[in-house]
Amino acid sequence: MRFSIVVPCFNEERVIERFHSRVSEIAQDTGHDYEMVLVDDGSSDATARLLEELAERDSRVRFVSFSRNFGKEAAMLAGLRNATGDAVIIMDADLQHPPELMHRMLELHAAGHDQVIARRTRKGDRFSRTLMARLYYWLINRLVDVELVDGVGDFRLLSRRAVDALLELNEYNRFSKGLFSWVGFDTVTFEYENALREEGQSKWTFGKLLNYGLDGLLSFNNRPLRLSVYLGLVLMALAALYVVWVVGSAIFNGPDVPGYVTLLVAITGLSGTQMIMLGVVGEYVGRIYYEVKRRPHYLVRRSNIDSALEPLAVR
Ligand code: UDP
Ligand code: MG
Repeated sequence: MRFSIVVPCFNEERVIERFHSRVSEIAQDTGHDYEMVLVDDGSSDATARLLEELAERDSRVRFVSFSRNFGKEAAMLAGLRNATGDAVIIMDADLQHPPELMHRMLELHAAGHDQVIARRTRKGDRFSRTLMARLYYWLINRLVDVELVDGVGDFRLLSRRAVDALLELNEYNRFSKGLFSWVGFDTVTFEYENALREEGQSKWTFGKLLNYGLDGLLSFNNRPLRLSVYLGLVLMALAALYVVWVVGSAIFNGPDVPGYVTLLVAITGLSGTQMIMLGVVGEYVGRIYYEVKRRPHYLVRRSNIDSALEPLAVR
């Protein structure tokens, strides 16, 4: 058994050394052979240089450095593509994912599980964020086909066949939470308590979270489109009823000229709905636009893996 540790790193100069020494220690303890695939996601600090230095000192370190910041999804993809182990563990560079849990993951993998998920409890999180997350998961699980669980992130072990399956999903717009779940196989989840970020800052702002949430909603099916069709039908039915009522009252009570408020409400309400529906359609068209361009997910600037440096064949 040989396993790979895949780590996306974006501006992590302050923790990367500590991450490397702690994780190496624990990985050696497992008694298995391992490699570390560290992906620099176009950091603007010294992360890229530090990764190179680590690779020079430690032959188990393989690194890929991007030409610019392509996002965590792209960094994870690069890590998975270049990982050669029989199992792959994905973890964050900021030590928020306790490396000790690797033992447990490897045990569960040895017991035959393809995906071993570490689910974090939300203890210590800000109340507002916990509430938002609850609401979001409640909503999204009613809308998408794959199951998304709160607290389940990218910290997990994947067997070789799960990784290969994941790499077959070559969409441009990657929403890993959903992709992992889509792949399936024998999955087991255990809980751990979230550690505070040791150094540096979280890159998640409220706006980024909102966009991420929307991505999740739109990446997995066309139910929002379906919903907007239903909404349109409901509105048309209401309008038809209203027409009957207005015409009826005109026949029995004579024509009734004033109606500014009704008009105004109808126009603003309906144009608002139309905008939303158009927006939903636009989102899907936008996605198609990105998918058909077939651009690579990332560009590699430097690496000690030869195959990672070759221009990516677009499938
Ligand atoms: N990360 C990345 N590219 C990005 C943003 C983040 O590779 O554009 C990495 C980052 O270095 C870290 C992991 O993704 O290893 C999680 O990021 P962060 O700690 O900011 O997220 P949080 O823990 O707050 O969810
Ligand atoms: Mg973090």
